[in-house]
Amino acid sequence: MSNSQDMLNDFRWIMDVVQNVDVGLVLIDKDYNVQLWNSFMQNHSATHAEQIIGQSLFEKFPEIDEKWFRRKVQSVYVLKNSAFTTWEQRPYLFRFENYRPITGKAEFMYQNTTFIPIQGLDGNTDSICVIIYDVTEQAINNIELEKANDQLEIISKTDGLTGLLNRKSWEDILQGEYERESRYHENCSLLMFDIDHFKKVNDNFGHPAGDEVIKQTADIVKASIRKSDVAGRYGGEEYVILLPHTSVDCAHILAERIRKKVEARPAFYENQEIPYTISIGVAEFHSSLKNPTHWIDCADQALYDSKQGGRNQTHIYQYPAEASNDNTESSN
Ligand code: GH3
Ligand code: MG
Ligand code: MG
Repeated sequence: MSNSQDMLNDFRWIMDVVQNVDVGLVLIDKDYNVQLWNSFMQNHSATHAEQIIGQSLFEKFPEIDEKWFRRKVQSVYVLKNSAFTTWEQRPYLFRFENYRPITGKAEFMYQNTTFIPIQGLDGNTDSICVIIYDVTEQAINNIELEKANDQLEIISKTDGLTGLLNRKSWEDILQGEYERESRYHENCSLLMFDIDHFKKVNDNFGHPAGDEVIKQTADIVKASIRKSDVAGRYGGEEYVILLPHTSVDCAHILAERIRKKVEARPAFYENQEIPYTISIGVAEFHSSLKNPTHWIDCADQALYDSKQGGRNQTHIYQYPAEASNDNTESSN
């Protein structure tokens, strides 16, 4: 067989591989015109090789971020090294429909992309081969896993009945805020409240009705506080709200607003009206506090005073006169 026949045979099998391989292969010259467009690209883009060879890539595929693409290609020419992009950095280069049944959840094909410098016969890099890998399955798995992890994290921090933070995660935030306050001595208040005579609600209307009261109370809290406030379900029918950047006077105003809303808005369960009230205690951050638990104890003490005073009222914890509150900025 002649030498040229050998070369032709070699060329044929190479072209066979190029055409049938399950990745996209695109060869582009220095003017960004397409020189090679394999079957993978034809099938997914619905653009036949004849329609694009010799044409500008950007004109045919306006979805390509031209500025980014040129920068990427230029770096390959200059460094004479391959470059990569993953779907995490850029979900796709070509927006192809996703046809795979298993990964049918994806609207488009997620792609990893490799840019390889190709040398001409003179040894100079005169074109770039872009390889497109379909990584939809891997991307969807990762995205689903991340979503599940996020959901799990939310569930693990939240109280199922009310959607408020559970005690543990609320206490974690309190700890952080306590440390911040100990350093910066800004205004910050803690509000704690408990439903009055809740045992009677359970006894008179049943436990599910009691649950509904707990839930509706949380809804009133959520509707009454600011984004920066942190509300939690501390126990059965005990709630806590951390109020950063809030003086005790402002916390008192909020406490009274919540208390009056609860008083004016009976809960409803299976067409039964359930009137109820709450008792509240407020404790401002104070430099004499020893730790976060001490702060909670002060709010609890004020809450106890509200109960003792006849319920359905708010009390503010009064720090002993000798415990001065240093509100000046810390120097360390
Ligand atoms: P007080 O005014 O002194 O607070 O009286 P109280 O009856 O509310 O007394 P206490 O706070 O000690 O009672 C809390 C009751 O709340 C006892 C418990 O059976 C009930 N409870 C705790 N958690 C739940 C819950 O998740 N759902 C329901 N329905 N009841 C709960
Ligand atoms: Mg109670
Ligand atoms: Mg209680």
